Amino acid sequence: MTDTAATNSPIVSAYRQKTAGSAKLAGRAREVFPSGIVHDSRRLDPYEVYVTHAIGSRKWDVDGNEYVDYYGGHGALLLGHSHPLVVEAVTRQIQRGTHYAACHELEIEWGELIKSMVPCAERVRFTSSGTEANLMAFRLARAYTGKTKLLRFAGHFHGWQDHAAFGYDSHFDGSPSPGVLKEIAENVLLAPADDIDATVTLLSERDDIAAVILEPTGASFGLQPVAPALLETLRTITRKRGIVLIFDEVVTGFRVSPGGAQGYYGVTPDIATLAKVVAGGLPGAAVTGKKDILDLLDFDVAASKGFEKISHHGTFNANPASAAAGIAALRYIRDHGACETASQQAAKLRGHLNEIFSDLGISWAAYGLHSAVYVYTNPDGDDLDPRTFDALRYPVAKLRGMKKGDIVRKLRLALLLNGVDISSKPGALASCAHSDADIEQTADAFRRALIMLRDEGELKKSAA
Ligand code: PMP
Repeated sequence: MTDTAATNSPIVSAYRQKTAGSAKLAGRAREVFPSGIVHDSRRLDPYEVYVTHAIGSRKWDVDGNEYVDYYGGHGALLLGHSHPLVVEAVTRQIQRGTHYAACHELEIEWGELIKSMVPCAERVRFTSSGTEANLMAFRLARAYTGKTKLLRFAGHFHGWQDHAAFGYDSHFDGSPSPGVLKEIAENVLLAPADDIDATVTLLSERDDIAAVILEPTGASFGLQPVAPALLETLRTITRKRGIVLIFDEVVTGFRVSPGGAQGYYGVTPDIATLAKVVAGGLPGAAVTGKKDILDLLDFDVAASKGFEKISHHGTFNANPASAAAGIAALRYIRDHGACETASQQAAKLRGHLNEIFSDLGISWAAYGLHSAVYVYTNPDGDDLDPRTFDALRYPVAKLRGMKKGDIVRKLRLALLLNGVDISSKPGALASCAHSDADIEQTADAFRRALIMLRDEGELKKSAA
């Protein structure tokens, strides 16, 4: 265990007491997995809770503790856990086989739904993860334009592959992170997302840029928001300069609106990558976009036009279980206002939290767009009013730096003690399964957790 400051922390002690079964499993896990975990963002000191089951807005750990869940399957669960329609569709499908290594009707239906809902989707190619979808998007853009460079925005996340493995939470100078070739890093230009003019200059002056990729609501689904005008500006200049515009809609797709961020903001990219919600909580992803770009994957078009096609494989592309889950989820999202409901619940939670911060005289702020709630923990002790905090006008470096420090770890532990699981951003993703009662219970849990933090000397009462 790396739990250094734990011994004299009542919060950590109480957490250990409440989660003995998880501690035991975490000990076993450390003998199998590096750091005992299988995904970096799940790390929690002294250890994570181990979950046995989940339904709707809730999950339960091995010690029988119940949590209102805001991790939301890393964003995959817009409908909450185990939505009955998804469960039914997957159960039906797995009894008929999980892998045919053959074409099947569900993959067509799934693709047709994507095509009908996502504005840029003239053609679809399934992959297994968002990382893979972005990898293919980069390859398509380079093959289509014959150019080499990719422009990304600092802080924006596009998966863990080599072209995207630096410059989102470190290596902002564009240098390669461990294991990445410097020749690959040299082909990626990192632009500041809060300086549109600098990006426009780069795009106007250089002739070697194949594609621009961004998270269309800003890094980490609006944790570092971008001005919506950026989308329009990028669309105009990339069109003019023959550069492929890629929206990474891995999180925003089918979450911001049934047509994703592109549907909501009315700006259509050349390519969009989709994962998470697209597969209804099972593994699955897609790259989608203009026909003449995705035609680079087409045997017949390549033969008739005389070019070498891009080769593409993937054992689990459009596997039938994911297709069944995806179809059930996308249909529900199309027909039942799920995106609006999730966004409304997030807005309610942001409102409650800001009232609590004000009430307790804590100069933190809850902010976020759509179904996201982030908590700015104000590590520099800036003078801020939670009711008027505007993340778009706040320095990006400050928003990015907020998760540093022990306070976020203790906030998470104190919330777990009070029956709520949030991410370490720190943030929460609302689903349409979060009821008003869940939101109120969460607000109460925050109030109690903040008082625990204050009692432990982690929070000073602000002058406000
Ligand atoms: N892009 C974004 C915006 C993401 O949030 C993620 C995952 N968190 C990815 C890409 C990578 O997706 P995956 O985990 O499916 O590889």
